[in-house]
Amino acid sequence: MSLKDKFQTGQKIIWCPGCGNTGIFQAIQKAFQELDLEPWQVFVAYGIGCHGHLANYLKTYGFQGIHGRALPLATGVKVANKNLAVLAVAGDGDQLGEGGNHLIHACRKNPDITCLIHNNQLYSLTVGQASPTSEKGLKTKTTPAGVVDPQLNPLALAIASGATFVARGFAGDIAHLTQIITKAIRHRGFALVDILQPCVTLNYLNTFSWFKERIYKLEETDYQPQDKSIAFKKALEWGSRIPIGVFYQEQRPTLEDNLLVGKKQPLAESSLKVNLKKLLSEFK
Ligand code: SF4
Repeated sequence: MSLKDKFQTGQKIIWCPGCGNTGIFQAIQKAFQELDLEPWQVFVAYGIGCHGHLANYLKTYGFQGIHGRALPLATGVKVANKNLAVLAVAGDGDQLGEGGNHLIHACRKNPDITCLIHNNQLYSLTVGQASPTSEKGLKTKTTPAGVVDPQLNPLALAIASGATFVARGFAGDIAHLTQIITKAIRHRGFALVDILQPCVTLNYLNTFSWFKERIYKLEETDYQPQDKSIAFKKALEWGSRIPIGVFYQEQRPTLEDNLLVGKKQPLAESSLKVNLKKLLSEFK
């Protein structure tokens, strides 16, 4: 069966032609194939933003939550059924603005989830307001004189908050991004992948060619991702050279390991010994 038949719903794709989301969509499917995952073995929680159209295109279990809340949804599903590969797919404004607190605590608690941030450095679905990752000086609808706040660095935030896998990919390099997403899903624990995703319609600065002139791959250097302080320093590199690849990886017990429930079998497979009628009546 082709990748398209296996992981695409066939819904009409409405992203702008040339949008970076298209490359990410391809890389996610290729990573599932690499990992021999079937659609029924995957759950994806989505936030709100242009990335969220993936909820209509990707043929797996899924749920689109409210703005910034993909991670709590994904965590609940993972706790209920640890046998699923669980992803949280979010945008930069979505995950680092509205959902910033959830990201910090997911890093700290280490659920076995892969979080992909489609980072186009704007709120694009709402036609181009500045987001936490907007470049200083970028003129947007909400910053007509240019962004004045410093850019939030998702990688440095994740490393400082305790994430056990921290990486960056580029939507313009699908083969490399596939490798990164594959490693992230394979990692046991919370994996954060910041994906540089040019918005060809609204971000006139951070374009595909802007990134291509600057990007280099960590795995083509002698960089090793095991030292937290070195990883933090590397995460701060941004400007004339922008690294992509795995910045940091460590192993420690996951949230599911530390919970008392679901140890013997997933909660989703346990028999329900609850009087649902009685329970629901409490909410009347
Ligand atoms: Fe992609 Fe930007 Fe168009 Fe949204 S507005 S679909 S991010 S190019």
